[in-house]
Amino acid sequence: MTRNYDSIIVGAGLVGLSIAYGLARRGQSCLVLDASDTSHQASKGNFGLVWVQGKGAGFSSYADWTLQSSNLWPSFRDELQEKSGKHLALEQKGGIHICLSNEEFENRKKMLDLMQSHQNGRFAYEMLDRKALLKLQPGLGNDVVGGSWCQHDGHVNPLYLLRSLKDGFCQHKGQLYFDATVSEISYHKGVFDVLSKKGTFKSEILILAAGLGNSSLAPFVGLKQPVRPQKGQILVTQKVDKLIRFPMTQMRQTAEGSIMIGGSKEEVGFDISSSTDITAKIALRAQRTLPALKHQNIIRNWAALRVMSPDGYPIYDQSITHPGAFAFSCHSGVTLAPAHCFGLATDIEMGKLGVELQPFSERRFDVS
Ligand SMILES: Cc1cc2nc3c(=O)[nH]c(=O)nc-3n(C[C@H](O)[C@H](O)[C@H](O)COP(=O)(O)OP(=O)(O)OC[C@H]3O[C@@H](n4cnc5c(N)ncnc54)[C@H](O)[C@@H]3O)c2cc1C
Repeated sequence: MTRNYDSIIVGAGLVGLSIAYGLARRGQSCLVLDASDTSHQASKGNFGLVWVQGKGAGFSSYADWTLQSSNLWPSFRDELQEKSGKHLALEQKGGIHICLSNEEFENRKKMLDLMQSHQNGRFAYEMLDRKALLKLQPGLGNDVVGGSWCQHDGHVNPLYLLRSLKDGFCQHKGQLYFDATVSEISYHKGVFDVLSKKGTFKSEILILAAGLGNSSLAPFVGLKQPVRPQKGQILVTQKVDKLIRFPMTQMRQTAEGSIMIGGSKEEVGFDISSSTDITAKIALRAQRTLPALKHQNIIRNWAALRVMSPDGYPIYDQSITHPGAFAFSCHSGVTLAPAHCFGLATDIEMGKLGVELQPFSERRFDVS
């Protein structure tokens, strides 16, 4: 089957659907092609933080992009909720990073001071000692020496987000095919032929947002997306009364009451098995942070793969050899969803990534 669309987006994770929804709400006819449900999907296994503190320390463009996205979150949420009629459980009242030693505290301060120094007042945070932190979050364990607090941080239900993006996209007449793995892309006279398990489709704009799949697809359009998997494991407790007032880097309480605990960063390739040595470490740190957790049962745990670039920052590129082709990978697809929907989609429609996104090109890894 062959059909023409304004844009074809490869990948129906948070990155692909945020952009697809952004283009569809501007009236573009879009097709999203996704591999099967069994492929690696960071968007279905992530932690759900909308996080600013620490994002872009030493890389001002990323700090600005992240803050911009965080600021857009309330209007993005309102629009999606109105369209889908479903709540996203967004809460943006600030977030905490816990330090369990003086060394952790000093390192955290150094990193956030650096971020503050290059953001010229556009990023605010506070280091809090144990006493000050206890006022924000009672019940902290004796090992907690302090932590950092940032008013820009928050959390959301990432599965509700994914579902609402899909619903919103379909409401704008977007077409979405699952089990449509893309295996080949060719380009002739300004038109892309995208060969998938569901047939070949044509468009003048092609957006690669296939997460870890981007590394093999990008060369078809003269681009590089050197992303690798980085495993993260997450534990979930039974539902409990309100115990955690603000989301933390490694722990948050969902709107339904369960507590999500995470934090591992494992370089083990495409392995998504859970391992007791790592989950025990995650649980121990959580108990040292909040001893009341000792009495809660872990009812679920899983592992998922981050889409990680060599320096951990997003890669946003458009092709010079294949005009009309774009490729995007990032590790903070929840936080950046509004920026992708409003910012990236606008740039794509204009045919050119904005100057603020130039520092994110893969060319930054060229050393010669
Ligand atoms: C443990 C963990 C915790 C995280 N916590 C947070 C957090 O708190 N906050 C935050 O902002 N971010 C977080 N992230 C990161 C966030 O989840 C990712 O940035 C985001 O989900 C990436 O979305 P994506 O669409 O690029 O990739 P994916 O979700 O992996 O989606 C890519 C899609 O492309 C499809 N695909 C692949 N190859 C092909 C092909 N050849 N043809 C067609 N389709 C293809 C796949 O089927 C998949 O559906 C976390 C990630 C993990 C793993």
